[in-house]
Amino acid sequence: MTDLTKLTLAEARDGLRRKSFSATELAKAHIMAIEAANSALNAYVLPTPEHALAQAAESDKRLAEGTARPLEGLPIGHKDLFCTKGIRTTACSKILDDFKPPYESTVGQNLWDAGAVMLGKLNNDEFAMGSSNETSAFGPVISPWRRIGKDGKPSTDKLVPGGSSGGSSAAVAAGLCLAATATDTGGSIRQPAALTGTVGIKPTYGRCSRWGIVAFASSLDQAGPIAKTVRDAAMMLGAMASHDPKDSTSVDAPVPNYEAALGKGVKGLRVGVPKEYRVPGMSREIEDLWQKGIDWLKSAGASIHEISLPHTKYALPAYYIVAPAECSSNLARYDGVRYGLRVPGKDVIDTYENTRAAGFGKEVRRRILIGTYVLSAGYYDAYYLKAQKVRTLIKRDFDEAWSKVDVVLTPTTPSPAFAFGEKSGDPIAMYLEDIFTVTVNMAGLPGISVPGGLSSEGTPLGLQLIAKPFDEETLFRAGQAIEDAAGRLTVQNEWWTAGAGKAREAAKKPDKSPGGKR
Ligand code: GLN
Repeated sequence: MTDLTKLTLAEARDGLRRKSFSATELAKAHIMAIEAANSALNAYVLPTPEHALAQAAESDKRLAEGTARPLEGLPIGHKDLFCTKGIRTTACSKILDDFKPPYESTVGQNLWDAGAVMLGKLNNDEFAMGSSNETSAFGPVISPWRRIGKDGKPSTDKLVPGGSSGGSSAAVAAGLCLAATATDTGGSIRQPAALTGTVGIKPTYGRCSRWGIVAFASSLDQAGPIAKTVRDAAMMLGAMASHDPKDSTSVDAPVPNYEAALGKGVKGLRVGVPKEYRVPGMSREIEDLWQKGIDWLKSAGASIHEISLPHTKYALPAYYIVAPAECSSNLARYDGVRYGLRVPGKDVIDTYENTRAAGFGKEVRRRILIGTYVLSAGYYDAYYLKAQKVRTLIKRDFDEAWSKVDVVLTPTTPSPAFAFGEKSGDPIAMYLEDIFTVTVNMAGLPGISVPGGLSSEGTPLGLQLIAKPFDEETLFRAGQAIEDAAGRLTVQNEWWTAGAGKAREAAKKPDKSPGGKR
């Protein structure tokens, strides 16, 4: 029988409907893959196999009855930033401790209503702050990808899977789910997708409900999927998106059939190439990747236009004022009284201080300090208000561009996956990971990252496409053209199962040691 974890979401959907396998078999194959990989990759912080098998049994019933819903029986991973009713949700922070939400996020509910099966909660940077998954209270996620040395042999250096949705990207790339949910405040869907050879789309601000997602920076946060292919991402987003009266910024507009957009091609599409994204020091291989993307779209029938987005260089500094400001306000709710962890003190202030000092990690504390500073009297106008004005200018740059082009093409990240510790000691180097992605959040636009090829180290690189508000269909069309030309990137060497295989073998052998069980 074929390895069910190697299927795409679309292939699995077709296989289930043809009755080539059951939803229970599909869920079991993934549960076993998670068991074999999790100690090496740490992608899941809470596998939920029983929950998955119960949902799969319901799906099998519906498939047999002919009442299958769009994602019936398809097993996915769920970022631990989404509240799950009665199932531990931590945002990968100690401060949420053993929090079991009394409600389900709207995006999650939409997926379960569409028939999807939840395999478990996925690791992420603490409160989604980070670009490498190194800030998680559960420890880092290890990328399934490895560099290929000059001798052609894989290196044993552990690489980051990107962040903050590093559990999502690693799990999809390693076949530990067919697709995953993720969130993106400044690049957390697109950057991990780029670093792991997967597809990630951050939809327009307002397309997916934020209700029930642990808040980081409310004016920037959006949910979206990470998937194996552009088609799979279209299937996922179609189910995740909805109007939700419980989120006042959710937009009351019908959700198009994104899959239908895929066949439309890019003939006549006007593609903008912003000159300001040629940042100083950009590596040769990123320039080459970008040029390949341009050539692919051109040969598929699109026209290429150089455009200018003059305020690009201010986006990153402005983001690192707006995002911490909103985070400092959102995270004020973790006071040791209402949620999760409580470290008692001699009075209420002491309890707050003890709880927050014990509960928040270093990066989260850094953001709270920056945010509190830029919002304080005397500095508000100089920093926060100024950053908001810059934000308006960034948005206007794009408004201007849309009179000339339909979509913008850029690289997703300035470099391929890096090794652990390489950037974690230098916050500025880490923040530079977001240089091409934050503008999209600042302007509220949709952006997709699609694999574009391998770096000289044999690791994935991604191309980013940006479109007008609520024009995700154009992203899927153009993304499909890139995928058709570049091909899919899949990990060849499944090193992470080796240890697990040995452990299983060892467990099977009778223990002959003195006092061992016979
Ligand atoms: N890396 C960015 C940050 O740390 C973006 C994170 C995100 O999109 N959640 O703020």
